Amino acid sequence: MSRTLLVLILCLSALRLGASLGSRSILRAVADKNGDSEDYAVDLNASNFDAVLRDTPATFAVVEFFAHWCPACRNYKPHYEKVARLFNGPNAVHPGKVLMTRVDCALKINTNLCDKFSVGHYPMLFWGPPSKFVSGSWDPKQEKSEIRNIDNGRTAEKLLNWINEQIGSSFGLDDKKFENEHLSSNISDPGQIARAVYDVEEATSTAFDIILEHKMIKPETRAPLIKFLQLLVVHHPSMRCRKGSAEILVNFDELSPANTKQEEVAGAVKNFQICGKDVPRGYWIFCRGSKNDTRGFSCGLWVLLHSLSVRIEDGESQFAFTTICDFVHTFFVCEECRQHFYEMCLSMSSPFNKARDFALWLWRTHNKVNERLSKVEETMGTADPKFPKMIWPPMQLCASCYRSRNSQKIEWDEDEVHTFLANYYGKTLISLYKSNSVLGNVGAKGILDESTTSTNAVAVPVGAALAIALASCAFGVLACYWRSQQKSRKYYHQRYSLKKYDY
Ligand SMILES: Cc1cc2nc3c(=O)[nH]c(=O)nc-3n(C[C@H](O)[C@H](O)[C@H](O)COP(=O)(O)OP(=O)(O)OC[C@H]3O[C@@H](n4cnc5c(N)ncnc54)[C@H](O)[C@@H]3O)c2cc1C
Repeated sequence: MSRTLLVLILCLSALRLGASLGSRSILRAVADKNGDSEDYAVDLNASNFDAVLRDTPATFAVVEFFAHWCPACRNYKPHYEKVARLFNGPNAVHPGKVLMTRVDCALKINTNLCDKFSVGHYPMLFWGPPSKFVSGSWDPKQEKSEIRNIDNGRTAEKLLNWINEQIGSSFGLDDKKFENEHLSSNISDPGQIARAVYDVEEATSTAFDIILEHKMIKPETRAPLIKFLQLLVVHHPSMRCRKGSAEILVNFDELSPANTKQEEVAGAVKNFQICGKDVPRGYWIFCRGSKNDTRGFSCGLWVLLHSLSVRIEDGESQFAFTTICDFVHTFFVCEECRQHFYEMCLSMSSPFNKARDFALWLWRTHNKVNERLSKVEETMGTADPKFPKMIWPPMQLCASCYRSRNSQKIEWDEDEVHTFLANYYGKTLISLYKSNSVLGNVGAKGILDESTTSTNAVAVPVGAALAIALASCAFGVLACYWRSQQKSRKYYHQRYSLKKYDY
């Protein structure tokens, strides 16, 4: 008993230390922007090279090795920037395709990095999948390498032609945003969902920013926010967001004491970036509309909700349902959306016992919204021509989901729909992310592993949050102990929030 007490005291002190270290680690970098710089290409150096290339959602990367004193490099810069403008930054014409970067070999810090890529003249350009650059190297004698030297990119036109040849595209230097005939509809390309985890991060981060901007953390909204963070800590498909949610959750009372003024809360919590310092990136990939004012955040939010629904355990299904209903009702600033959604929540007459039932409820609910909006959009002419609303999934995505279909009615095979949803929003959603090695690249792997499962909706998020904070200060063993203690407890908190759903 006394040993247990000692371990708990150690855990708590470690937690305090971990929390403060954690919160420092996610403080926004202040004033790191050079006001006079209009550059699109991302400056890399030996200390951020691997991290940036590992975490980018882009499929390919170009790395320019140059020296700032080299006159030819200075003259080349406008050419390189002309191409970078197409691919980098929030106003990119073709975002998420190619990450354009540069490394200044004249800086001492980069000497080894430039040596690893056998940089023999300036500028020297390389092409490859971003992950291949991570801890990578290049040698002219090497016969097989996925990193290639770009030998014909001395003008913007030549460089873009070279890129077009590699990826079979026909991008032009004059392409304008949202006049993009290359944008593929995600109906016909099931592989697109593999890129959606970046949009789920974007939506999470945007939702949090909106909550702060609209000063929505109040005494009466703390509970729904905390519950949502608890859900994210364990089930968010992105490890970055799980970690960030845990850090906010662990520090929540400190940041937002119940009697603090709204401005102070916003000021304190603003320092936290829920999915890390690089998110929001300012653009959408899977959820990108073909017009300026379509899709984006609300699409990302749906994908986040579906991805949570397929990750929960049976015992968490009712907690997840009330948490998502409360979150949308409290924090989704689209009035019509939250009212409609809330009515559909209230129409549920019995609690969920199975995760499958909740995932299917969310799918059905989303289809009801699609059905209603398809009529509205048709009448108003507001649909995105590339992404019209439809009953989902279409046959192209899941033929086996359909038992029968006529003009009046679809008879679904719900087992097949559930299998499809679990795979689509589960494994496939994170496949690209995983292959970019974003998962499992921090020391807390065991705790944050994708296979983390929970037996209790409240106990595990709290346990995981503690574990993450502890792991960050190398108290992994204690964290596991604490977490196992938490896991074995029974909590019934979720019942409280159900009152308004009349159970
Ligand atoms: C909770 C919520 C309620 C909303 N209510 C309204 C409303 O009342 N009025 C309004 O005008 N707008 C509403 N919206 C916004 C609207 O639903 C769309 O998000 C928006 O119009 C953008 O549509 P989209 O084409 O990107 O596809 P979205 O409907 O956002 O869907 C995103 C992606 O999810 C997938 N998907 C589509 N249907 C399903 C399904 N049934 N199950 C699983 N996955 C699916 C598809 O791949 C699709 O591309 C709501 C959004 C949310 C998150």
